[in-house]
Amino acid sequence: MESSSSPQKILLLLMLQSISLIADSFPIHETFFRCLSTNSKLAVPLSSYYTPNNSSSFTSVLNSTAQNLRYLGPSVPKPIIIFTPLSEPHVQAAVICSRRLRVHIRVRSGGHDYEAVSYVSQIETPFVIIDLARLRRIDVDIPRKAAWVQAGATVGEVYYRIAEKSKVHGFPMGLCTSLGIGGHVTGGAYGSMMRKFGLGADNVLDARIVDSKGRILNRVAMGKDLFWAIRGGGGGSFGIILAWRIKLVNVPGTVTVFTVTKTLEQGGTKILHRWQEAAPKLDDNLFIRVIIQAAENGNGTSRTVTTSYNALFLGNKRRLLKVMGTGFPELGLTSADCIETNWINSVLYIAGYPNTTQPEVLLQGKPVFRNYFKAKSDFVRCPIPESGLTGLWKLYLQEENPFMIWNPYGGMMGRIPETATPFPHRRGVLFKIQYVAAWQDGDKDPSKHINWIRSIYDYMGRYVSNSPREAYVNYRDLDLGMNKNWKGGTGYNNLKEASAWGTKYFKGNFYRLLKVKSRVDPENVFRHEQSIPSLLVKRQI
Ligand SMILES: Cc1cc2nc3c(=O)[nH]c(=O)nc-3n(C[C@H](O)[C@H](O)[C@H](O)COP(=O)(O)OP(=O)(O)OC[C@H]3O[C@@H](n4cnc5c(N)ncnc54)[C@H](O)[C@@H]3O)c2cc1C
Repeated sequence: MESSSSPQKILLLLMLQSISLIADSFPIHETFFRCLSTNSKLAVPLSSYYTPNNSSSFTSVLNSTAQNLRYLGPSVPKPIIIFTPLSEPHVQAAVICSRRLRVHIRVRSGGHDYEAVSYVSQIETPFVIIDLARLRRIDVDIPRKAAWVQAGATVGEVYYRIAEKSKVHGFPMGLCTSLGIGGHVTGGAYGSMMRKFGLGADNVLDARIVDSKGRILNRVAMGKDLFWAIRGGGGGSFGIILAWRIKLVNVPGTVTVFTVTKTLEQGGTKILHRWQEAAPKLDDNLFIRVIIQAAENGNGTSRTVTTSYNALFLGNKRRLLKVMGTGFPELGLTSADCIETNWINSVLYIAGYPNTTQPEVLLQGKPVFRNYFKAKSDFVRCPIPESGLTGLWKLYLQEENPFMIWNPYGGMMGRIPETATPFPHRRGVLFKIQYVAAWQDGDKDPSKHINWIRSIYDYMGRYVSNSPREAYVNYRDLDLGMNKNWKGGTGYNNLKEASAWGTKYFKGNFYRLLKVKSRVDPENVFRHEQSIPSLLVKRQI
């Protein structure tokens, strides 16, 4: 650990003076800062990385990457401090100080957590956010087909930096380009190349993590159990990921994308019924997801359901048409529907940017989707009958802006064993469903949207996986259960509560995650509403 030099001590004194006025009312502001200062070198002006809740920039720093506006309302608990480390030792210091001062911490990289557990604590206050947004260095090494990427970098930045060096390399992770690689990869990370290469987490070579004792560990030092746990076990449970070393994959110089939309009146139900069986069996190079929305009917008097088949093929148009002609002719794909492009432009296309957008937009690291929303997920192992789809549409059209995405599995996803990483949704999964209810500011009755999504989820129960009903940890859903009673005396062992959601996210891997957690973070330093509980915790830090 680095110690502070004399000029830094002087700087520190000046900084402390500047916060002394508020320190009486919020002593933690000062004690936490003092602790950070003695445990790491803090030479940059205070205001650029340490934001107490009475600072004028507090709200803008808090909101900067917060994706779900539902969790920014005035009644939602706010952190007392946001600490934005500029170096790895700063992160170590934050962990050491949180233990020493018994201050609860939350970790944020890209801020896309569906239930905002990276920036809101519903179960424990006061809390401090460790925000890794300033740790976003990316070193791409084409000869070694690898890259080191710091946790605060966005998925889009990583894609851009790879493409900048090579047109025939890529990395298989998320479709949304503003995701933070820290939280995203540790929960799995699927994208449009998953059927060919698996998840982002399946393609991690090494990692650097700060553990509960404040040590930095790499793959060798952390050991195989912890290295297994952080590749799919979900964020905020095992330590703070500083950086991933990822394995680049080969992509062809020419790829093809398309989007074909069918309404119910155009035979949408029958085609979707067929897609369920066709899409998971198609060539591994082809990923066709379905985006399902509602729209005005042609005559504007009623609404219909639209199913948009949005696809990436790792190859040229000629080969794609051949694959579709044999594997999924029902969609009626034509040459005119297909756009040949390169991989980085396909990233922009799939993320929904307008056609003329330049790849440099990815360097803005800006969120493309910010809303008030509630989402849920399901995995489907048997095709849903047409009658089931017809019933779904009735419920679907009751919501103003219903949104679902169905993602095909099969290919490499089915070949990786269920226990290889904590992400268990592998062989036999046909597709994953994501349900989203979104609304705008000023909506008088947000609860009606939440009730709607819960009713759709209830309806779908009969058609989706069961025992357990599987869910994707990166689509966090607090309806599935929550850790609680942190300070209640008897609630420290949350095994029963946690298994409710833990087995849905991880199936049998949940029990191995429990063992790893209990060994590497027995005192449960890294905790949130759905973190893996430590079975050994005796007292709360
Ligand atoms: C618009 C949108 C699109 C999405 N698209 C996809 C997609 O295409 N594919 C996909 O797989 N998922 C997708 N997701 C889900 C996404 O993968 C998860 O929300 C993911 O957890 C986001 O990571 P983050 O770092 O941005 O979020 P954060 O909110 O910062 O973190 C998420 C979780 O990880 C923890 N965490 C954050 N950083 C670290 C760290 N450095 N070390 C340890 N724990 C950490 C947090 O505490 C929290 O528990 C999408 C989400 C949104 C909102």
